[in-house]
Amino acid sequence: MKFQAPESIEEAVAILTAEPEAKLLAGGTDLLVRLRAGHIAPPAIIDLKRIDDMMTITRLDDGGWRIGAAVPSAEMFEHAALKADWPGVVEAADLIGSTQVQGRATIVGNLCNAGPAADSVPAIVAASAHVEITGPNGTRTAAVEDIPTAPGKTSLAPGELVTALLLPPRAPHSGSAYLRFIPRTEMDIAVVGCGVVIQLDEGGTITDARVSLGAVGPKVMLVPDAAKALIGTSGDDAALAALATACTAAATPIDDKRGTVEFRKHVSGVLGQRAAKIAMSRAKGEA
Ligand SMILES: Cc1cc2nc3c(=O)[nH]c(=O)nc-3n(C[C@H](O)[C@H](O)[C@H](O)COP(=O)(O)OP(=O)(O)OC[C@H]3O[C@@H](n4cnc5c(N)ncnc54)[C@H](O)[C@@H]3O)c2cc1C
Repeated sequence: MKFQAPESIEEAVAILTAEPEAKLLAGGTDLLVRLRAGHIAPPAIIDLKRIDDMMTITRLDDGGWRIGAAVPSAEMFEHAALKADWPGVVEAADLIGSTQVQGRATIVGNLCNAGPAADSVPAIVAASAHVEITGPNGTRTAAVEDIPTAPGKTSLAPGELVTALLLPPRAPHSGSAYLRFIPRTEMDIAVVGCGVVIQLDEGGTITDARVSLGAVGPKVMLVPDAAKALIGTSGDDAALAALATACTAAATPIDDKRGTVEFRKHVSGVLGQRAAKIAMSRAKGEA
């Protein structure tokens, strides 16, 4: 097996195009586990961490953010301005594994691994994030919800790699939150994950919302009915109850040792309500 460590995006694309079965290595916290378990045996590994453009966090001119695809989640958590703008995204990244795992693991690796329970994905879907993708035909962007297509599968074309995560500017009076349920206090896979972003007008009425659920379907899902339940309200108890009903209805989980269908559907509603309350208080500047 060859180990390649390109120093530019162009070089990485050229290697991947010449060796389409090669695997990209960001933090390696999913890839190396699969490699050691013998689940995959790629002809080459392409390490992305020597590419400067993929290792930097940049505030864009419009107030949005470009987070290089190989930036570890620990660096996101330590970035005060990014954390202030997108607490929901940063706290989701901060839930991935342990301190040691976070020193390597990336949010883009979490997305491209295409696991239904990936923690950061509901948070970035709720945040209307996009990814910058580069391949043999140039650079394009795509909404993050369009990247995973099924467990372990992505919509990336041969020779394409994600080069950055793009977060929009934080809107005035807006707030974000991510919550997950796990049976232990840490180091576990989400039984349900929920990301919420809420925007208010000056008077405190919700003008826009996005609610997404993870671990309750083959891929992370947006729940438009949950957003509709909030929009036009003050986020009162009736609106939160309607949001919970919409989340429970949208969830299509499987039964497994970590939770039954009934339990996961119920928890989807509970987490939706709780995450919405946190996002509301952040939108009001209270938290
Ligand atoms: C002990 C432990 C605990 C964990 N806990 C959690 C947890 O609590 N929550 C959670 O969600 N996950 C958890 N994980 C899984 C893993 O850490 C995350 O999914 C992590 O975000 C993966 O990021 P990475 O950079 O390490 O990805 P890698 O392992 O480098 O890559 C993952 C996949 O994405 C592909 N890929 C990577 N970068 C790109 C790119 N730029 N473009 C296209 N494809 C790319 C790789 O080829 C590979 O197929 C845990 C893993 C371990 C080992």
